[in-house]
Amino acid sequence: MTHPADPGCIFCKIVAGQVPSRKVHEDDQLLAFHDIAPWAPVHFLIIPKAHIPTLYDASDESHQALLGRMLWLAPRLALQLGVTNGFRTVINTGPDGHQEVGHLHVHVMGGPRPWARG
Ligand code: AMP
Repeated sequence: MTHPADPGCIFCKIVAGQVPSRKVHEDDQLLAFHDIAPWAPVHFLIIPKAHIPTLYDASDESHQALLGRMLWLAPRLALQLGVTNGFRTVINTGPDGHQEVGHLHVHVMGGPRPWARG
């Protein structure tokens, strides 16, 4: 299932290059960039380029593969950024999950503690 870019979505704007980001990784399906308000010394987000709003909207087999790749990528990018002592991965979903940006994303947080939050 394809999801057209949402012109009102900040992460779609980052994918389109209309809003700047500090990129960590880019391939044909995924983008990773540093969180603008980090909770930890290293805090980046991995997003699908396609506008999948939440985990509830991950539907078909291509989305299953995409979700797998997002988690597969997390430790690799963490290591590239010097995070060798572990990290947290968080996916917030919907209002009760405190999801603020309606474009699926995995938070990856690491680095020496104490952290600002989390
Ligand atoms: P969530 O509550 O899981 O939806 O988290 C959304 C995250 O996106 C927050 O940690 C924000 O700091 C982050 N964020 C929002 N806008 C931007 C942006 N333009 N560039 C980087 N990170 C952003």
